[in-house]
Amino acid sequence: MLITHLGLTVRDPDRSRRFYLDVLGLDGSAYPEPWGFRVDLRDGFMLALIRGEPAGAELVRAVHFGAALSSAGAARELRDRLRGHGVPEIEWEDADDYVGVKVSDPDGYVVELAYEPRSRLAFAAAPNVPSPKNGDEALARLLAGNKRFVQGKTQSPRRDSVRRTEVAQGQKPFAIILTCSDSRLAPEVVFDEGLGDLFVVRVAGNTAPDPMLIGSMEYSALTFGSILLMVLGHDRCGAVEAALDVVTKGSVPPGEIGAATAPIVPAIQAVQGRPADQLLDAAIQENVRQTVQRLGQVPTLAELVQGGKLKIVGYEYDLHTGKVTAI
Ligand SMILES: [Zn+2]
Repeated sequence: MLITHLGLTVRDPDRSRRFYLDVLGLDGSAYPEPWGFRVDLRDGFMLALIRGEPAGAELVRAVHFGAALSSAGAARELRDRLRGHGVPEIEWEDADDYVGVKVSDPDGYVVELAYEPRSRLAFAAAPNVPSPKNGDEALARLLAGNKRFVQGKTQSPRRDSVRRTEVAQGQKPFAIILTCSDSRLAPEVVFDEGLGDLFVVRVAGNTAPDPMLIGSMEYSALTFGSILLMVLGHDRCGAVEAALDVVTKGSVPPGEIGAATAPIVPAIQAVQGRPADQLLDAAIQENVRQTVQRLGQVPTLAELVQGGKLKIVGYEYDLHTGKVTAI
């Protein structure tokens, strides 16, 4: 990795905790404002690494946070330059084989900037994690993010202006999530992912009866190479409840709501013999199962699955705990 410039936020003139990014060349040169990015400390970052060369006022390559310096000398030189700014949040470490800084934000999020010769580089908060190589890896990543969410240890990664700039040039979402429109279930939040990570298709009741919905998922799998398709239902789903009323009470939903409940009806019919107090949960799970099955029969998706390029899974989200569980 060629490292040419280091961006560093050092000014907070109005104590807003919004720091400004100064871009410094490692050769000691500095670049004017148009090169800079404003970084909000509340995003958890103060230090940035910029790779690539400028084309006019634009960066031609992506910008990454977290940094590794090219030599211990460069790290020490940078440290000496920065010390003058007296930024209190920065802690310095200097050892024979390690020169670095650790920066903590008010939420305890830590970014490390370091030179380390054994190439065990400190990327405590590097937001650009490698893309999962297969469906299993993709699923493991989502589950790890969900675990952080459940434990209240979210990183809220890749949601800043730098990521926005990066993905504006192109997207490569590794997973497709088909989930309910329910406002309490937001995929990027519950899986602790960021911009450009997930291709989300949402419809009340998380069904896919419609070519438009299927086409959206095919588009992401074929165009962006998404390698995981997760159907994500959730407990106490209003859409499934409404469909249950259609079947058990003969109710007729107003407007076009029936179009959203109709695809859920076969799932309800499949579990109708269950005790009344288990019926809703059983229907929710059966609805996910049937949707997974239906998607697996879509020729394009089936071909990807057979070729090992797509994995389709069904999960249920628990509104109370935030945890997703395999169905
Ligand atoms: Zn729902």
